Order: sequence, then C-alpha cells, then structure tokens
Amino acid sequence: MQVLSTRGKMNAIPATQAVLQGIAADGGLFVPETFPEIDLEEMKAYAAHEYDILAARVLQYFFDMDEAALAEITQQAYGTFDDSRVVPIKELSPAEYVMELTHGPTLAFKDMALQVLPRLIRRALDIHKQEENVLILTATSGDTGKAALEGFRDVPRTAIEVFYPADGVATMQKLQMVTQEGGNVAVCGVQGNFDDAQTGVKALFADETLKAFLKKAGYTFSSANSINFGRLIPQVAYYIYAYAKLAADGKIADGEEINFVVPTGNFGNILAGYYAKRMGLPVKKLICASNGNNVLTDFFNKSVYDANRPFHKTMSPSMDILISSNLERLLFEVTGRDDAQVRAWMEALKTSGKYEIPQETQAQLKGTFWADFASEEETAQTIRETFGTHGYLIDPHTAVAKCVEEKYRRETGDDAVCVVVSTANPYKFTQDVLRCISGQDEDDAFRAAQLLAQATGTEIPPQIADLQEKPVLHPDVVGRTELKSAVEVFIERMGE
Ligand SMILES: *Cc1c(COP(=O)(O)O)cnc(C)c1O
Repeated sequence: MQVLSTRGKMNAIPATQAVLQGIAADGGLFVPETFPEIDLEEMKAYAAHEYDILAARVLQYFFDMDEAALAEITQQAYGTFDDSRVVPIKELSPAEYVMELTHGPTLAFKDMALQVLPRLIRRALDIHKQEENVLILTATSGDTGKAALEGFRDVPRTAIEVFYPADGVATMQKLQMVTQEGGNVAVCGVQGNFDDAQTGVKALFADETLKAFLKKAGYTFSSANSINFGRLIPQVAYYIYAYAKLAADGKIADGEEINFVVPTGNFGNILAGYYAKRMGLPVKKLICASNGNNVLTDFFNKSVYDANRPFHKTMSPSMDILISSNLERLLFEVTGRDDAQVRAWMEALKTSGKYEIPQETQAQLKGTFWADFASEEETAQTIRETFGTHGYLIDPHTAVAKCVEEKYRRETGDDAVCVVVSTANPYKFTQDVLRCISGQDEDDAFRAAQLLAQATGTEIPPQIADLQEKPVLHPDVVGRTELKSAVEVFIERMGE
C-alpha cells in the first residue's frame, strides 16, 4: 500500500519506505491511502489459531511485502513473548474483559509493535536497496525506550539511541534501560520532562548539520516513536484479534458492537483501535482514558486542545504527556483529509500550544470517542478494588483505564461489552502498586517487589528480578541542548 502525509505536501510512497523515514518530509505523519476492509469470518478463523498468523494478515493489508516474509516477522516477534497465546484475554465478568498486551520481553504493550518494527526496517532496507544504515533516535516516557532497545538490539544495519527524561521515569523503567546490553545501543538521560526529551529529539531530526554528519558516517535517521507507521499498524491487529477471539469463543454475537477502553498518552494505541473500526471492526466507542494530564479529556469534551497547563508527574508516567502526536492522524481523518486544516492546527499548536476545532468536528468525534480521566487517588483505589474483587493485579496505567471504564458505565448507562486494554505489568511500577495494595512505602524497588509478591501471591517476572544483578552500562545524563553531541559521540563509537 501507498501512504500519504497528514500535511499533504508530498507524493504517496510505499509503506515500507515510510517505515524507513519515520516522519514525512513535510513534517506530517504517514497515513494509509485507504482503509482496507477486513473479513471478520476470516479473522475469526485466524483467531482460533495463533496470534502471529492474524497479525501477519493485518500487516499484509498495509505493507508491500510478501506473505511469507510477514509471517516470518510476526512469528519471530511474538515468539519472544512469555505466553503462548501472546495476547491473553482475561474475563472479569461477561461484560468486562482485559486484553493483556503485557507479555512481551519488556512487560509493556510497546513490545507488540517494537518487536515487529525492527524486523520491518531490516527488510525495508533490502526492498529499497538503501545503502545507509538506520539510526533510530527515540524519546521515551519510559516504556518505549526499553521496548525499542530490546527490539533493535543487535539487529544488523541498525543502531539506536534512546533519550529518557532524567526525572520522569519509574525506577524499574530506568534500570531496564541503563542496563541494556547490545553492540548497537546507547541510552542517555535528559534533564527535564518527557516533552523536553521529545522536543530535543524532534530538533535532532530537523538538524541539517547532524544529517550531513550521519550521512558521512553511513547512517540515516528513523524513529521508533509511535509516529512511525510501522509502529501503528502492528497495533491494529490486537483490536481485531480481541474481537475475533471473543466472537469465536461465543462471548459476543457476530457483529455485536463492543467498547475498548485505552489508557492513552501519545494517542498511538487508541488510534490503532480507530483504524480497526475504519476497517470494519464492530466498535461502538473508543474510550480515551487519561491521568491527571488530561489534555485529551478536555479536547474531546470542550473542543479545545490546550497544552498550556501544569505538567503532573503521576503513577502512570507513560501517559504523562501534554502533546499527543498521533492525534494529528485522527484530525486528518475527521476533517475528511483536509491537510490545509491539519497544517493550520499543528502550526497553532507549535506557536501557541493550543488550537480549537469546530463544533461539528467535535460532534463527529464524539460519535466514536468518549473521554475522561482518573486522578491519582482514583487510580490507587481502582488497583486496590480490582485486586480485592477479582484477585487480579493491574498496573497504574491499566487502572486508569479501568477507572474510566467505570465512569463511562455510570455516566452513560451503556452496558455493552467493554475490553480494557492492559498496557504494563504491575511489577514495572512496584513501589506505587505496593503502596496502593497494602499502604506500605518502600524505598528499595526490589524489596518492594518482594513485598508485593508476598502481599498478592503473584510472581515477580524474571525480567524485573534479574535487573538487580545487571551492571549499569549507560550512566550519562545530558542537558537539553546537548543531545546532538551525545549522538555524535555514539556514532563515532559505532564506527570504531
Ligand atoms: C506508552 C504507554 C501508554 C500510552 O500509549 P500511547 O500509544 O502513547 O497512547 C499507556 N500505558 C503504557 C504502560 C505505555 O507504555
């Protein structure tokens, strides 16, 4: 398939090319030329077998690659997961399910896409006979960084440098990154919050002297952030899978409309749900759940996107985001692909941190989306109650979604089946989860993990337990203006 830019200033290119570029040359995001129509019966048949087969089928709609290559990619990608079902679906009640996207090597939903993306990039280099290697630069609010490092580690012809906000990620998240092994990886803290790190990385992509430096060293940029088209599409698959699986198991009727509740930050995950709906999946509402950084809640309910507000550090740091990049793709679709309008809004966002959409656009959005947020207290209470009622331990991000699901049911009276999207293993946020469950404050993250295991009868995942033994390989923290020299040093080291 060909893809277009949301800013409309370039010709369509093949999806495999878009994966190599990351962001479009006009500053926009790549979107599919059309939305292919799925055949639900076919998907139900796949869902009865293996997740990776269904995922390959979904990729095949979008990527100009042969079936066997895609099947190999998804088989390898999801072979790294610790559950043979890949995406287990937990039933809390006949009307409430949790889709667990947490079984990948880094215990966060980012693995769903980031185990696939490096393999797509590797193939795309061959397809387009690109001579330069690919340098991935990524800003992370916590989970992307580790998942990207794990996905790209030692993938030939790629190198990756991850920038994380020095005081914006959880202890376990940080340890997961700074202990990362692999010959082609670098990790660097940035003084500031996630938006500082993201702004810094965006500036690198636009830096012509850095580009020239890299070209000489035999590299071009790409991005592993959720703006990369190759991140978005693997995420479409699990919405289709969840529906097909529930239908195949007789939990829902054929064609019955269901809701998905998504803990949202950069708007990548929930956008994939929107794409699935556009492909014909019977989705009633996509429920956008935010934490105290509730820019999106206000956007959907008041038609103004306004990032000019205090930034809150929460228990769900992967959602501590004020600029949700992927919203641009949704705006492109709901305006009937009006790229001039998208450019105007994105320009306003850049200059004033704010833009307003017309009433009719908002009304249209409200047909598909419903949005609310959970405070820290509500999140804690949801973790406690979910464990108390179901014996089921969830992480703070998932708890935000579960809490907003409950608000949705109360406020709308809608009793349709809801699938809560679970995005991280609770042991990534042990100290917070322990405090929510048992009221204990424990400074040491590993001790907290032991206490949490005792209190809940759950097991510490080996990816977490093993961190204690691993040496810190990436201790550096730089100022906001020093990202460029960090990249240069890394590339020089790669050349040695
Ligand atoms: C990244 C992340 C999110 C937010 O997902 P987006 O695609 O950025 O909206 C939510 N929860 C967890 C655990 C994450 O890692």
